[in-house]
Amino acid sequence: MERVLKICSFISPATGWVGPLSEAPDPVFSEKMMGDGVLLDPVSGTLCSPCDGEIIAIARTNHAVTVRADNGAEILMHIGLETVALDGAGFDMRVRVGERVKAGDMLVDFDLSFLADNAKSVLTPVVISNSDDYEIFAISEGYKTQGDVIFDVRAKTNNGAAISVDMDGPAMENPIDLPLEHGLHARPAARLAAGLKGFNARVQIIHGDKICDAKSTVGLMGLGTKHGDNIIVRASGPDAQRAADMAIKLISEGLGETPMPLTPVGANANIGAIASPKPSVALDGSAVLGGTMGAPGLVIGTVFQWKTQDFNYAENGQGAQAELNCLIKAVSEVRGKLEALAAQGVKRGAKGGAEKGAGAQADVLMAHIGLLDDPGLLEEARLLIDKNKSASHAWHKATRRNIEILKSLGDARMAERADDLLDIELQVLASLSGENAGAAPDLGAGTIVIADELLPSQFVNLASEGLGGLCLIQGGPTSHVSILAADKGVPALVALGQDISAIPNGTNVILEADRGLLHVAPSAGKITQIKAAIKKRQKNQTLAKKNAHLDCVTKDGVAIEVFANLGASGDAANAVANGAQGCGLLRSEFLFLGRATPPSEDEQLSMYQTIADALDGRPLVIRTMDIGGDKPVPFVHIPDEDNPALGLRGIRISLRREDLFLAQLRAILRVKSSGPVHIMLPMVVERDEFMAARKMVEKASKQLGLKGKRSLGIMIETPASAVLADQLAKDVDFFSVGTNDLSQYVLAIDRGNSGLAASIDALHPAVLRMISMASKAARDNKIWMGVCGGAASDLVAAPILIGLGVTELSSTIARLPELKAFLRTVTMKDCEAAASHALTLTNAKDIREYVRQKWPHLADWT
Ligand code: PEP
Ligand code: MG
Repeated sequence: MERVLKICSFISPATGWVGPLSEAPDPVFSEKMMGDGVLLDPVSGTLCSPCDGEIIAIARTNHAVTVRADNGAEILMHIGLETVALDGAGFDMRVRVGERVKAGDMLVDFDLSFLADNAKSVLTPVVISNSDDYEIFAISEGYKTQGDVIFDVRAKTNNGAAISVDMDGPAMENPIDLPLEHGLHARPAARLAAGLKGFNARVQIIHGDKICDAKSTVGLMGLGTKHGDNIIVRASGPDAQRAADMAIKLISEGLGETPMPLTPVGANANIGAIASPKPSVALDGSAVLGGTMGAPGLVIGTVFQWKTQDFNYAENGQGAQAELNCLIKAVSEVRGKLEALAAQGVKRGAKGGAEKGAGAQADVLMAHIGLLDDPGLLEEARLLIDKNKSASHAWHKATRRNIEILKSLGDARMAERADDLLDIELQVLASLSGENAGAAPDLGAGTIVIADELLPSQFVNLASEGLGGLCLIQGGPTSHVSILAADKGVPALVALGQDISAIPNGTNVILEADRGLLHVAPSAGKITQIKAAIKKRQKNQTLAKKNAHLDCVTKDGVAIEVFANLGASGDAANAVANGAQGCGLLRSEFLFLGRATPPSEDEQLSMYQTIADALDGRPLVIRTMDIGGDKPVPFVHIPDEDNPALGLRGIRISLRREDLFLAQLRAILRVKSSGPVHIMLPMVVERDEFMAARKMVEKASKQLGLKGKRSLGIMIETPASAVLADQLAKDVDFFSVGTNDLSQYVLAIDRGNSGLAASIDALHPAVLRMISMASKAARDNKIWMGVCGGAASDLVAAPILIGLGVTELSSTIARLPELKAFLRTVTMKDCEAAASHALTLTNAKDIREYVRQKWPHLADWT
């Protein structure tokens, strides 16, 4: 993000003829509506980066890509003309939005002869899309080899030419369904941007959770719109009304294309077009709303509706130096506060010993400090301040642009980083305005806060005021706020939907997080009943903690191994303190997620050894890196995938990157422990994969001069591995069921989709039947089988899992004491009978009800 260069030379992105842009047979380019540049006639099908920079936009159909050079100029390369109509055919995009590239790095591999046969033209405009701010000079035309310099670009000095926009006054929002056959691709985007240039207004286009300036063609293309999408035109400033009318008119007329008919809202309309009803909720005690558990617990309280603060500030500043000083001061104030909070957390954690709480909060705070320290963010804001913008406006713009990039990557972990950025954006804005960001209202003890979404710092503020429980309209079970809530013991429900916003402040509610239920204005009788249940649970939890170190043996004498899932080397001691008898899943990729370079063998060894030492001879199952899917890492390039969960992930990457795999296997094999160290492979679908991995283990052992066979098992987390478990069990040493992915793939529900979070349940009979197949195969072949997915931490699922033949459960650290304590109250005979019956039921809800009826005292636990 650093912008130090004022002049930047751009090289030809492909070999071919470079000529004037005015010769493009398309007025959008020839009249420079998209910006100034050149026209390239490529002779080969490889498009490379023309400069060092960052990928900021990729057309949905992969025919155009934009790079922001390190001096801020944005260069758009549009391969061929009207190639959007090819709908991606012939283009193999090799980069992702947000990726850093070097001049000459390959961006797109395209089929030139296919384009020649199927597109209007292969002529490729190469333009500076922010030509209002940057000018092109020293153009060199003629035949160029990829890599030859074709022009230089520098920032314009009189940026004041831009229209001054008075941001006062409310913004108006007008929705419209896009009639454009291919959405807002390059040409219509350029026409819209050009059509709005004369207005003294800020016009933005909102599409889902993405927003961009309507005068930015790159931003418009980055929205990824398609025909029929509902977008919102938001306008503010003196000419807002006229500008919004113009935008709506241009869009409805097709922006130079023939508008395509839209499906009317009605029986045949797609789901996205159905308007949501106004939120409402009954207050007569009959309303019980359903959500997804973010953090366990049962609590009674009164509602407080919490709204995010809006900050009002001027867009233009009071002089660049003064604004910059204010921003630097605000950033350093926020940094100081975060450091103080982190230090408090560490002190509390040290006093509390094994008590959880310090870890997750301190991690989030450190992540925020890291973002504040990012020089690129400050530099980006400084460039805006140099253009006469206020510190608040510049900071807001800089953070929002990066938030959009992170969100556009479309994976859950990057979206969480976007939440962190939003969090520090608000904290710095608050500091600039002299207010306290997300300042907690005076909550009475036991207040249940209802909010749309909550940021980590807002949660921390609220929690410091004695927050009793949390209900979010949106949110996800794996978000930072859910993790923090679990850490602080605050019961939380997420993805409850809009209706909770209609519950008036002060209404009594019962929050049954474990069951995903919110009872609104319950009767006095229900409250008495829940109070008694809460009392019993507290008693049980205290006792469970006390007995955490005892073995876990059912009433009829069957021992179950209760292990912990680990994702950080510091977790192991905590797990042992909570009664873990081993580690059933070390998510090794978690140790290396943020790194830019692969971890060396020695670094890995040191981390694994620390964990093995803390486990002190207890078994350790190290899963080889499950990279890909929702866990991309910068050091492994994965081409853009429509469905990352179904793409290059887990063992598929390990077998393609032998260098990484071998280093990891060698590190694991070098761990010294008095107990067993097992190797576990993720995402296996067939025997050949396992055998290939086994060969690698043998190779690593041979290199290290080690004798003897190593325990090598697989995760059962794909339907294929469950169905073929009888074949796999002949060769592997153990199975461990990953119920998170197994549920995702069996039920065809994305595990990160908060809208369907309530339906993805490992107790679905289809998932249980898969587990049952794998368990039979394990028994027949005398290998052990555990469960390490989320179901292992679920007290309702646990008796069914052990009834299906699972002998080891690997749970979250927090759940260990209760899991052990509850399983000590059941008999294996009952669990087996319950498991057989569960397999005959038709849905997860009925199975949950049945388990609760069979063991009514579960209500005293969860
Ligand atoms: C699982 O899929 O259940 C599992 C344990 O693996 P992860 O959650 O890391 O994908
Ligand atoms: Mg998994």
